[in-house]
Amino acid sequence: MDARGLLLHPGLINAHTHAHGNLAKGMGDRWTLELLLTAGPWISGSRSLPEKHLSAKLGAVEMVLKGCTACYDLSFEWPAPTVEGLQAVGSAYAEVGMRAVLAPMVADRTFFEAIPGLMDALTPALQRDVEKLRPAPWKTSVANMRAALREWTLDRDRVRLAVAPTIPHHCSDEFLRACADLAREHGVGLHSHVAESKVQAVVGLERYGKTLTAHLDDLGLLGPHFTVAHGVWLDADDMQRLGDRGASVAHNPGSNLRLGNGLADMRAMLEHGVNVGLGTDGANCSDNLNMYEAMRLASLVSKGQCPERERWVTTEEVAVAATEGGARALGLDGRIGRLAAGYKADIVFLDLGHVNWVPLNDSTNQFVHTEDGAAVRHVMIGGRMVVEDRRVTTVDVAALAREAEAARRRLADVNAATKELCERLAPVVGRFCPGLARVPYRVARYVSGP
Ligand SMILES: [Zn+2]
Repeated sequence: MDARGLLLHPGLINAHTHAHGNLAKGMGDRWTLELLLTAGPWISGSRSLPEKHLSAKLGAVEMVLKGCTACYDLSFEWPAPTVEGLQAVGSAYAEVGMRAVLAPMVADRTFFEAIPGLMDALTPALQRDVEKLRPAPWKTSVANMRAALREWTLDRDRVRLAVAPTIPHHCSDEFLRACADLAREHGVGLHSHVAESKVQAVVGLERYGKTLTAHLDDLGLLGPHFTVAHGVWLDADDMQRLGDRGASVAHNPGSNLRLGNGLADMRAMLEHGVNVGLGTDGANCSDNLNMYEAMRLASLVSKGQCPERERWVTTEEVAVAATEGGARALGLDGRIGRLAAGYKADIVFLDLGHVNWVPLNDSTNQFVHTEDGAAVRHVMIGGRMVVEDRRVTTVDVAALAREAEAARRRLADVNAATKELCERLAPVVGRFCPGLARVPYRVARYVSGP
């Protein structure tokens, strides 16, 4: 290829996103994580198989247009993941030509059962309503995931499966152990939202008498194949455990800010030997899947955390997290994340004539701090041009937009009653959960100098 006037970088790797989020883009504002979870049945509910495919495809199109060539996707189906549902999502990535690790999010408790005391705060009528939101028994979820792992027909080099017990305390201990066994049996990854919000951190201590990370460690889940999503409320001992076990954190600064969860300490993670990847999280909670924005925020958030500039992450560290760090979290280290002999040809070509690069003073600093996706000209994945001259070559984006509008209308209709239920639940959750988070919770990682 003639690449004169172009800057090449390895495809960005989104270490944490959600396929189902893309049809729910922009549906909320001023939502805490707990209010987002409350809204889940409304904004992600009643999806048909083609809508599951469509939602994944929308995200894949956005990601490739914004220089991202692989992702770790925690997709959701209720009451349990299905072989067909996972194939529908997986085939969306295959059709766009993007790499993905697809980990169905599973739980055997509702959000309302997972938070001690929350059920009691609901009226009897609301208690009866949320009973109906209960996921399938865990054995059903495990059996369905096992079937999907066995019967997977997509090229595993491109789209493979993993297992995502969604939030530790939303899963019984026997379910968590079964997830770990399943992942071990099939040699695939495990991914979980751990200590994302202060409410979760406090609930972990209340339920288990130890942190969520210590709980997972004691159940045997931590290892090089394990990825923590977020980890905003990890303490030093948690990070040490993750580092010692060779685990990863998918750091999602955009989502953490958007949901008011706080600022994850990437410097402390690196100091404890944790592998750090970067993610955007789902479009239902951070509204875009732009990995350039995730890089810029990762850098800025670190710089906003303390006055000691030696502790700020560097643009180099952020760039490595968004590429090689993500590759390791996806279990694809040594194969993607670098432009080097022996690696897959997942390459983004940036237009050096774009104003983002005029003038070109420092390629790493501008890659992390200036680039916003606007200079992406071509994207190659596995040697195939998936974006050429800013256009996706593999799918008809105009047709996709028409399908998305039709889906939006249908879903607004069929989910109207669920929306109304969520709106009745929101004031209770909105009062109860911040109350839980008002207790002191010390994250002893680093104390700013005297
Ligand atoms: Zn997430």
